[in-house]
This record gives sequence, C-alpha cells and structure tokens, in this order.
Amino acid sequence: MYTHFIAECLDCGKQAPASGASSACPYCKSEWREARYDYAEIGRTLANSLSGRPFNLWRYRELLPVLSFNPAISMGEGGTPLIHAANLGMMLGCPHIYVKDERQGPTSSFKDRQAAVNITALKEAEISEAVLASTGNVAIAYSAYAVRAGIKLWAFLTSLVPAEKMREVALYGTQVIKVTGSYDQAKKVAAEFARQRGLYLERGARSIPSVEAMKTIAFEIAEQLADLPGLPALPPQPVGNGSHSTSRWRAPDWYFQSVSGGLGPLGVQKGFSELYQLGLTNSLPATACIQAAGCAPMVKAWELDNEHADPVRSPRTHIATLATGDPGRAYTLLYRRIKNNGGLCASVSDEETFRTMHVLAKMEGLSVEPAAAVAFAGLIKLVRSGQINPQDVIVVNCTGHTMAIEGNILGEGWARDLDLSAPLVQETPEEGLLAALSQLNTGRFPRIAIVDDNPDARRLIRRILQAQGDYSLFEAAGGNQAIELAQTEQLDLIILDLMMPEVDGFSVLDQLKENPKTASVPVIVVTAKELTLQEKNHLRGQIHSLMQKGEFLSDDLLDEVRNLVK
Ligand SMILES: *Cc1c(COP(=O)(O)O)cnc(C)c1O
Repeated sequence: MYTHFIAECLDCGKQAPASGASSACPYCKSEWREARYDYAEIGRTLANSLSGRPFNLWRYRELLPVLSFNPAISMGEGGTPLIHAANLGMMLGCPHIYVKDERQGPTSSFKDRQAAVNITALKEAEISEAVLASTGNVAIAYSAYAVRAGIKLWAFLTSLVPAEKMREVALYGTQVIKVTGSYDQAKKVAAEFARQRGLYLERGARSIPSVEAMKTIAFEIAEQLADLPGLPALPPQPVGNGSHSTSRWRAPDWYFQSVSGGLGPLGVQKGFSELYQLGLTNSLPATACIQAAGCAPMVKAWELDNEHADPVRSPRTHIATLATGDPGRAYTLLYRRIKNNGGLCASVSDEETFRTMHVLAKMEGLSVEPAAAVAFAGLIKLVRSGQINPQDVIVVNCTGHTMAIEGNILGEGWARDLDLSAPLVQETPEEGLLAALSQLNTGRFPRIAIVDDNPDARRLIRRILQAQGDYSLFEAAGGNQAIELAQTEQLDLIILDLMMPEVDGFSVLDQLKENPKTASVPVIVVTAKELTLQEKNHLRGQIHSLMQKGEFLSDDLLDEVRNLVK
C-alpha cells in the first residue's frame, strides 16, 4: 500500500514497510523509527513538480508518509509567511532576522502541521478514535482536524493549561480530561487509558507522521529564503561536488525554536538534512533549542555535555506549553544532531520572556504566546552574549499566537478609560464621543527630538517611544535641522546620533551648549560608533547617557527617557 517510503528502526537499523499509523519495528519492537524515501528519484523531480502546486505543506507530498492529500480534512495548513523582523534586527544589530509565522495556521500554532498529517494518516488507516496528552496546542490542533475526519478524540490536559485553551478543546467536541498534575503525569495516564481501551495513542516524537509533518517547516523556509533579496551571498560551492550542483534553495545559518518535547526541532532538522541530501541546499543550519528556565532539562544536560536529560519533576514556569519535564530519548537524538551542526540549547527566564512579548508586539506588530516568545528571548540573549554572528541569516519559529493575554504580562495601567456614559449636555452622539475623546488629551506631553540621518533608525526610536509613552515627537535628519528644532520647539529631550554627514553629533552638542536657551536640554546619545577615549572625554558632562546601537532593547531606552523627562 505505502510504497513511497519505508520505516527505518533507530535501534536495530532494519527497514520495514509501514503506514503512517503503524507504531513499532516488526523486528525489535522499538517505537523509534524514521521514514526514508527514494531520495535519488525525488531529488531529480521535486523542484519541477512543485511549480503550480499551492503553497501549503502538501506541496511536498512525495516526502510525507500518507497515501494522498485529503481535501475533506485539509484547512490549508502550512505555507505560512516568512517575515523580516527589521526593527528587532535593528535593535540587535542583526539585519537578517526572519520570523516563520506559524501563528497563521488554522488553529494558530505550528501543531497544525502535526495534526493535519497525523489525522490524514489515521483516516487512511481507518482509525476512528484516538487519545492524546497535551500542554494545550496539540489538543487544540488535533481536535479541529479530528472533527473534519470524523475521529473521536480524548485529550488529557494538565491543570496548568490556561482555561481558555481547555475551553477551545472542548468546543470542538473533544472529551477533555483535566489531570491535576504535571504534563509527564498526564502523558502516563493517557497512555494507560489508551492501552486499557485499545485506542490509538498520539506518540509525539515517536510517531512518523509527526516528525514528517514538522519537516515541512524546513522545506518552506529553504524555499522562501531562496527568493529573498538582500541576503549575504552564499560561500562558493566546493569544486567537484557534483551531487550538490543543483542547489537552488537556501538553508538559514540558524534555526531558533522554543522547545518542550523536542518534536519540532527534530522534524525541522530532518527536513534540512533531506534537502541537503536531495541537493536542493548546500548547508545545514545550526539549531538553537530554547527552553523556559523553570523547566529546562535539555539545557541542563547540554551544559553538562550529557546525552541523557534528567527529568525535571516539578516544572517552575508560568509557561505551561513548555512544561515537558522528561524529554526522554527525543533529547538524545537532538543532542547528537545539534552537536554535528553547531547548534546549542539555552534557557530564558519567564521575566525575559514576558519582556520579549512586549518587544515583539510593540516593535514588530506580532502578538505571540509566551511559549513562542521564549525562542525570541533566547535569540536576544545569544546575540548579546556574542554567540551569533550579526551577519548570519536567522529564522525564528514563531510557534503560536497568544489567545489569553495573561495579566502578569501587561502589568498595571495598560488601558485608559474612556467614559461615554457621563451626561454631556445636549449634544449629538458624535459630539459626545469627541468630547469624551478629548478627556484623553490631558496637558502638555514631553517634547522629544530624534536626530539621526538614517530614516530607519529614526523610525525605530519613534516606534519605541510611541509604543509606551505620551510624547510629542520631532525628527531631524541632520545637525543643522536639530539645532533649529532645539531653538524653536522648547524641547525636553534630544536623542542624538553622532555620525552624521556635514554637521555631526559632536558639533550639535557644542552648539547646543553655547546657546543659553538650549544648553540645559538633556541629551541621550545613541550611536553605532566605537568611541575613542578622546571622544568619550569630549562627551563627558555634555550628555546624560550613551547607548550603543544594537545593544539596547526598547525598554532600556524607555527607562532612560522616563528618567530624564518626568
Ligand atoms: C508545542 C509548542 C512548543 C514546543 O515545541 P516542541 O516541538 O514540543 O518542543 C513551542 N511553542 C508552542 C507555541 C507550542 O505549541
């Protein structure tokens, strides 16, 4: 039946025919198997077969473990955009950061891929009832696809899963079983339940369709990067490397993902390896697996250079999605592959994560769930500690959308009240509304000038200030314009670049100080320039703070601004 792939056992190494839903090696009973395809044949034909196929994950059907695409089940999964994160890149000094926006799938997380391919395989195997344990998103995605396939689902969710997610699972008609305990405990209960009733159990990284579904993220990234203008040139191909002479897609230098059980990075790595083997790309990315510090068994093992991870029994993180305490063998597989390709495991705190959610929303317009923000927080941390080459092409998997914005992420004062019920004498409704709106404009806002010859840099600083403060903003593209603004606009603060053609930042400072009207306006210097000792001495006493471009986050600048204009 299934002739286009075979399952190779990772324990005994033997190959056997399989279907998408079959579970163990017929020789040694191991559940750890991987799909293999006829790479020579597919390598010859794939690139040509693709033209004319829609941009969703079924585009790569030759490399998926199902018989055929099932239009009754599909909701157009995969084919998510790759978005340039220009502002984040500017803040970090890394111009080539791309976001694989998996929020844009049918149920708003990258688990859509796993669910779509698995449910299609279950349907082909005529399975009509299945069991899973989940930290939320797997249950949501499977539930939606199970409805379309007419499969009944039992979902064991840990009580840590936010109520909003549980309700969504229930809305699809899935039987929700709330387990008061850890995710690892929920998995054990689900497995026992499935065994007793003889039902199919979703097995995460041990299920061939799951790993194969995640591969398509790699395929899409490589295809999307190939078409992007403005990326650094690839190194020349080794001479005489005939098998890779056809490469036309592109692997990034880094792939970042927040990691819980590790299925995602395992699948994505397999995808990039297959592309390399097919001759479609000529490199493999380094994988950065980022975990929440309160549940980071992989990071702990990685730092000890251990290929087995000790389970974390009681995860201490608010980020329930990432609360796999015992990654088991998935970590060992990841460890070996990461070692080969120069990747790493690192952790970030919940606090760094929540801060990063603000950065992404306010700088890039991306509202992501905490679990997705973990990957970005990891990126920020690694760039700052110098572990990433700033010119590298970086792709971050934006794994899921935030549904419930938890209170602890926003803090106090995140909304302003607009009271429309107050009686506003004899006015038409429109006038009443306008009058109410005018309540919002109270008093004079601090007046700040942004001085930089680079329009992108001005836009970034404007974004940062607009996102979280009431400021009247002015922009100057050069030194002369800045001095003019200072004389006419009663500024409360100047944010000044040093390197500008004609009149540079140093002479702006000199001229401001010479004029009694402008001498006391505080100045924050934001510069990309490495300052000499002499330049530093020159600035001393003339400015209030010095920030290096690419080395501060939006909040750092806001803190400085708030200190200076009260
Ligand atoms: C599942 C999930 C992760 C973790 O992925 P794994 O492949 O299980 O390690 C990260 N982010 C979101 C939003 C998820 O749903």
